[in-house]
Formats: sequence, structure tokens, C-alpha cells
Amino acid sequence: MSCLFCKIIEGSIPSRKAYEDEHIVAFHDIAPQAPVHILVIPKKHFAALNDAQPEDIELLGRIQLAAQHVAKEAGIAESGYRVVTNNGPDAGQVVFHIHYHVLGGEKLATLGGKE
Ligand code: AMP
Ligand code: ZN
Repeated sequence: MSCLFCKIIEGSIPSRKAYEDEHIVAFHDIAPQAPVHILVIPKKHFAALNDAQPEDIELLGRIQLAAQHVAKEAGIAESGYRVVTNNGPDAGQVVFHIHYHVLGGEKLATLGGKE
């Protein structure tokens, strides 16, 4: 299995976990773009939001609640945070196991900046 995030799920690559349950893992980003930068991923592998199917609706909801949970645990639920998934080249996706960035802990830049 060659997927980096699948290796993080199975534990063969270390990570600093923020949350885990039967369906979801959340861990701190290795190159944080904000004081709090946590990645929330489903244990089920799919590459990107493009690949989500109707049967994944419940899982996609679980991801949102896990994002809310880690934001609360990190102390940024009230100050504010952003949840982002990059899909494909123009969004700069580099890891092809769907993941949601949870960013906060400071005033974030305006959404939608260009290169
Ligand atoms: P994306 O550009 O949306 O594909 O983001 C991939 C994210 O994964 C980046 O923010 C990376 O810093 C992060 N990342 C890559 N490798 C690791 C790792 N081993 N542990 C934690 N985060 C990682
Ligand atoms: Zn994977």
C-alpha cells in the first residue's frame, strides 16, 4: 500500500494524533500553516472529494463533526476556524487520500487567494 495517509492510519508512519474513532483519524499537519493545523481523514481510502459517492454521505458528515471536535479540543471553536479540502491540481492537492484541513488560532487570510 503506497498511500501516505493510509500508512498514518495503520501506524507505520508516525503522526501526532488529535482524534481517532472507528471511521476517522485526525492528526497535526507536519508543516502547519496556522497555529492550529489539524488534518481530518476517513479511514476509508478515496483520493479526493471527486471520488466521494452517495454511500459516503454519513462518512462526510462524520468528518465535519470530527473537525468540530478537534477545533473544540484545540481551543479554537469560539475564536474561529476554517475547514478546507483541496481537490485536484488548481487547489494544490498533493496527498491523494481525501483530507480536511482544520485551520485556526489566528486571523486567517482571505479565502480564495491566487498564486
Ligand atoms: P494537500 O495540499 O491538501 O494535499 O495537503 C497535504 C497536507 O499533508 C500538507 O499540509 C502537508 O503538510 C501534510 N502532510 C504531508 N505529510 C504529512 C505527514 N507525514 N504528517 C502530517 N501531515 C503531513
Ligand atoms: Zn489512503
